[in-house]
Amino acid sequence: MQEQLKAIQQEALAKVQEVNNLKELQAIKVSYLGKKGSLTQVLRGMGKLSPEERPIVGEVANQVREAITNAIEEKNTTLENAALEEKLQAEAIDVTLPGRPTKVGGPHLLTKVIEEIEDLFIGMGFEVREGPEVETDYFNFEALNLPKNHPARDMQDSFYITNELLLRTHTSPVQARTMKEYKGEKAFKMICPGKVYRRDTDDATHSHQFTQIEGLFVDKDVKMSDLKGILNLFAKKMFGEERNIRLRPSFFPFTEPSVEMDISCKVCQGEGCSVCKGTGWIEILGAGMVHPKVLEMGGYDPKVYSGFAFGMGPERIAMLKYGVNDIRQFYLNDSRFLKQFHQA
Ligand SMILES: [Zn+2]
Repeated sequence: MQEQLKAIQQEALAKVQEVNNLKELQAIKVSYLGKKGSLTQVLRGMGKLSPEERPIVGEVANQVREAITNAIEEKNTTLENAALEEKLQAEAIDVTLPGRPTKVGGPHLLTKVIEEIEDLFIGMGFEVREGPEVETDYFNFEALNLPKNHPARDMQDSFYITNELLLRTHTSPVQARTMKEYKGEKAFKMICPGKVYRRDTDDATHSHQFTQIEGLFVDKDVKMSDLKGILNLFAKKMFGEERNIRLRPSFFPFTEPSVEMDISCKVCQGEGCSVCKGTGWIEILGAGMVHPKVLEMGGYDPKVYSGFAFGMGPERIAMLKYGVNDIRQFYLNDSRFLKQFHQA
């Protein structure tokens, strides 16, 4: 019987040695140590042994069981480690690979220019105000000294929704609304940035939708020199300390006197070149002293109050400052154009 046990041990250990997966190892375990396993079968025959033989065979049997159990456990650990290792290899992450770059956007060039202009005027005590883009004929034209049938209305043909409602052609109605809100009593400084609409055919310098920033300063004793001082400061901050400005007489229905402001050409320093069309100057914005009729319609007494107003196109400012040669670039959403200015 001892011989039989030794043979079982040898056979079992040899099988354990050979096996290379956990499932087969489990099968071996059952076939030797299980209830119907060969070792168990042999041990059942122990009852037939003499009382002297029994403990000796019993001891051998225990050794055999232990040897087989140990071998199986050891193999089990080895196989589990191998499986884990294989899994780790398969799922390995190469931390030395460079990461995939994330696309980082930035504000639109026009937004940046508008914010820059806002910051400049906020620094000079102006408040930033907004108004509706769908505007009444009254605020868009009449309150700004542009009665029905006024010839200057032709310059601002718009998209009408009804006879009395239209897409605003300029941000000036916000000025009229502000004056109305302050009821002719309060001095104020404000700018109003926003989208405006005109029935224009799109080309390199025109767009049916564009942006404007207008400013209005109403107080007692506001003079033309105040306007010039503020515009001069704006031009130098926006385009460089070395730039000069000049004011030329012009006409707007809502200001009197009216002026156009030019800045000296950066390219030729005033000598005359193709950028400034040989004049040495580049037109930037329109301005003037608020027309007494506009003050009056806003509820301000023109004998007590005076004011100045100005209006500019952020597109034009951005085109001059950043060398953009086609206004349509601002609206095409071509990322090749837009991303050039993310660091600007
Ligand atoms: Zn020039």
